[in-house]
Amino acid sequence: MAATTGQQFRDIRDKLDAGGPLTLEDGVRLYESRDIHTLGELANSIRERLHGRRAYYNFNLHINYTNYCVLRCKFCSFHRPYPKGAAGFSLRGHSKQKNIDSSVHDNAGYELSIDEIVTRAKGVYARGATEVHITGGLHPALPFSYYTDMCKAIREACPHIHIKAFTAIEIIHFARISKPRLSIGEVLTRLREAGLSSLPGGGAEIFDDRVHDEAFKTKVGEAEWFDVHRTAHELGIFTNATMLYGHVETPAERIQHLIKLSEHQKESLRSGKAHFNCVVPLSFVPEGSELSHLPGPSGLDDLKTLAISRMMCPNIPHIKAFWIMQTPKLAQVSLNWGVDDIDGTVVYYDITKREGGGTTRQELTVDKLRRLIVEAGCRPVERDSLYRPVIRDETTWQIEGQSWSVTYSPNRA
Ligand code: SF4
Repeated sequence: MAATTGQQFRDIRDKLDAGGPLTLEDGVRLYESRDIHTLGELANSIRERLHGRRAYYNFNLHINYTNYCVLRCKFCSFHRPYPKGAAGFSLRGHSKQKNIDSSVHDNAGYELSIDEIVTRAKGVYARGATEVHITGGLHPALPFSYYTDMCKAIREACPHIHIKAFTAIEIIHFARISKPRLSIGEVLTRLREAGLSSLPGGGAEIFDDRVHDEAFKTKVGEAEWFDVHRTAHELGIFTNATMLYGHVETPAERIQHLIKLSEHQKESLRSGKAHFNCVVPLSFVPEGSELSHLPGPSGLDDLKTLAISRMMCPNIPHIKAFWIMQTPKLAQVSLNWGVDDIDGTVVYYDITKREGGGTTRQELTVDKLRRLIVEAGCRPVERDSLYRPVIRDETTWQIEGQSWSVTYSPNRA
């Protein structure tokens, strides 16, 4: 198909200037275009309107508490089968823990005790982190109390840390394993009472029955994913939303996914309690998955997808490039293609290993994050998980508008 020129995007530009929304046909036209510069300019017009030259990052730690999972999504290289005949799990101790140092990537299954999780959270909180981001596989043996105890223990040890935890599929798993069985609303309420602050956006993949059946048949579908996020929003719990792209889906299926997110956001904004804070387009990494024969997205596809996500979801405030998936270099470039957030320091990320030479230690320092942003011509703003500015000096941080502050020591071991 011939490249679409900037002139041919005039109707799209007019719609974006009027606040959107774009249609499926508009989105597909954008994908078919090779005019990457105009795509960037259009996406950036929304980014600049919403955020000026601000670009956000945060000081956080990811914790993936287990890679044991009852499912086997084809795109996933993270899950491991639970060993047959494995005994119960010591909730507070280390006795049943396997592969406790997940900086060593040895393809083994592991599960972290609550003590280990709290030790990690305390360590990074003492050095000034504002968020822990916690997700894991669907463990077949851990009880629901493991997750509430985990939140309680972190909250006790790190009173002001933001606990962003558990994707929609994990929340549904907790409802299924709870005894007596709890509803999604009850699971979320109990987790919030235990210390949970917000939900990440994982598990959405691509909202399409064909893609679902081909790439993640055993996982819940879009209705269940939206049900969790709708319930969270009704309870006043903010969430994010992801899209895993670059595997078996078509551009039109990506666009439909983004339209569904934007439609849902309309409902949540109407109710006024909570909504999606950001869209996180996740670039598929084929290595180690059952879809390893696929090439995965190219750099241009990454850039287009981030820009098009910005254009298709004008009512979702932020678009995040997750540097673990898109690489720090491309995340930097994307700051002029509609993206306003390049996530955080991360430290450990077990789910995808792209940086860090195959280990799961994948860290960008705050200085490096800020340098990436400044070099892109933007103004770095440290944010908390709800995008409120963090005011920091060398020993304390606080959230703008909050009366409390946290003392920390950046050099603590
Ligand atoms: S994507 Fe999540 S639910 Fe699917 S196999 Fe991997 S860990 Fe399990």
